[in-house]
Amino acid sequence: MDRALISSLAFWADMGVETAYADAPVDRLKPVERRAPQAAPTRPAVATPSAPTARAEPDIASAVAAAEALAAQAQDLNSLAAAIAAFDGCPLKRQGARQAVFARGNPTAPVMVIGEAPGAEEDRQGEPFVGRAGQLLDKMLAAAGLEGQVFITNTVYWRPPDNRTPTHAEQAVCAPFVERAIALVRPRVLLLAGGASAKGMLRRGEGILTLRGNWFDWTPVRGGDAIPAMPTLHPAFLLRQPLGKKKAWQDLMTLSARLEGTKA
Ligand code: URA
Repeated sequence: MDRALISSLAFWADMGVETAYADAPVDRLKPVERRAPQAAPTRPAVATPSAPTARAEPDIASAVAAAEALAAQAQDLNSLAAAIAAFDGCPLKRQGARQAVFARGNPTAPVMVIGEAPGAEEDRQGEPFVGRAGQLLDKMLAAAGLEGQVFITNTVYWRPPDNRTPTHAEQAVCAPFVERAIALVRPRVLLLAGGASAKGMLRRGEGILTLRGNWFDWTPVRGGDAIPAMPTLHPAFLLRQPLGKKKAWQDLMTLSARLEGTKA
C-alpha cells in the first residue's frame, strides 16, 4: 500500500475513526432512481460456504487455551519470554514477523507501559519501542522522572504485516501472556499507549481521545487484583501530530502524581 495512504489511515485510526463504510463516496443528495420490482433471485446451485468467522472461532479459542496453559507455567519473566517465543498459536507469527518481541525495562518497575504491536525496528531488534516512536517515549518518560521505572511491552508479540493495527483475535491470543507479565512484574500502574492498547486492555469501545488521561481499573480475566490503568496518546501519533504532546505530557504528569501518592 502507498506510504502516504498508510500514514493517513493511521492518523484517522488514532483519531478514533476506525470504520470505512464504503470504498467510494456516496452522493446522498442525488434523487433516488425508481426501479421496477425484480424477480426473487434463484437459489444458487452450490451451497454458500459458512461465514469465515464462524470457522475461525474454535481455532482462536484453542490458541487462547494453549497460551493460558503456557503462561501459567512461567514462573519468571525469562521463562515467559521463552514460552512466548515457542508459542505457535498467534496468527501473526506466520505473517512475516522475524521474531517474537516481548519486553524491555525494569522487571520490578512500578509502571508497565503497554503499546500496540512491534513495528519494523522492533521486529529487527527483538525489543519493543526501539524505533523512532520508542525513542520519543523514552525521552518523555525520562523528562517525567520515570527513567528506569518502567517495564515496556505490547498487546501482541509479533509485528503485524504493514504495521496494521492488531485484531481483537490476535490480542485475545496474546492476552494470557500479557496478563502473566503483569502478574510477574506487579506494577502499581499501567500506561496504555494508543487506542488499540487502551481498547484491547480495557475492553472498551471509545476512541483514545476520549479515554486518554482518565483512570480505569484493569481487571485480569484470569483472576487477581485490579490495577489502575491510564490510556495515553501513542508516541507514533505524537510524531505525526506534535500538538498532541501537550496532552500526553499532562497524562504523564497525572500518572507521576498518582505514583508519588502510592509510594510504598
Ligand atoms: N509501537 C508500539 O505500539 N509498540 C512498539 O513496540 C513499537 C511501536
